[in-house]
Amino acid sequence: MRKEKQEIQQEDLLLMLDAADEIVGRAGRSMLAKLLKGSRDKKLLTLGLDRAATYGCFKSLTLEQITDRVDWMIKNDYLAIQFDRDMPLLVFTERGWDIQREQTAEHLLQQWNAWVEAGVTDVDMSYLKERNRGMILLFLQKAADARDARFIPLLKRWEAVDVKKVKQAIREVVNALEQGSSVPIQVEGVPTSYYAAGPTMMEARGPERLKCWECGTRFEWSVEEQDSFRMRGWEPPKRCEPCRELRRRLRDRLMEE
Ligand SMILES: [Zn+2]
Repeated sequence: MRKEKQEIQQEDLLLMLDAADEIVGRAGRSMLAKLLKGSRDKKLLTLGLDRAATYGCFKSLTLEQITDRVDWMIKNDYLAIQFDRDMPLLVFTERGWDIQREQTAEHLLQQWNAWVEAGVTDVDMSYLKERNRGMILLFLQKAADARDARFIPLLKRWEAVDVKKVKQAIREVVNALEQGSSVPIQVEGVPTSYYAAGPTMMEARGPERLKCWECGTRFEWSVEEQDSFRMRGWEPPKRCEPCRELRRRLRDRLMEE
């Protein structure tokens, strides 16, 4: 039996998701390891990844140790490998993005808190444009929940530069804050997070039960198989072993003809 010895602290997991956010859709797992290591790799520098906040945050570890952690993230379904032609790129899984969306929105809120504390209102809000819509609406919800009237000038600046749908949502928050009402503000379209960052996300892994597309039988997808599928960037198997075997035989027979 294979042992799942490596454990990752939640703090490190969040750092890795933050670092992955710089990479997703642009590079693969070795680039993520290099970013965390703080490598002077040429391609890394070309991509400007040395400017990331997480650059070198694991510099005390070896590249091999970091790569093991990155692979842990893939095997545990926080990150996935997706092929763009023959290039294996890193992407977020649903679970990984659920946590990262929350984390990114929280970073944005902290920035706004720092600005209002410092009395800064003259900010170019275009950095909020063309971001993931679900994340940006989650951030707006957090800004609304803060019930801080000092956010109003920042919200108005943001409203001025964003697209229509986001503008409307911002306007509703501004109106509610200006009225000073205590009714909860519900921003429309905020995605539900199924995997909120918390202790539950570190649950031990076990086999998954999948349903065969062909015959409808439930079958077990072992941890070992999950690892090997995920590391190859494959989707979970669609068919049970007998149905897979049948297809293989049919294919072989066709090849013989
Ligand atoms: Zn089957």
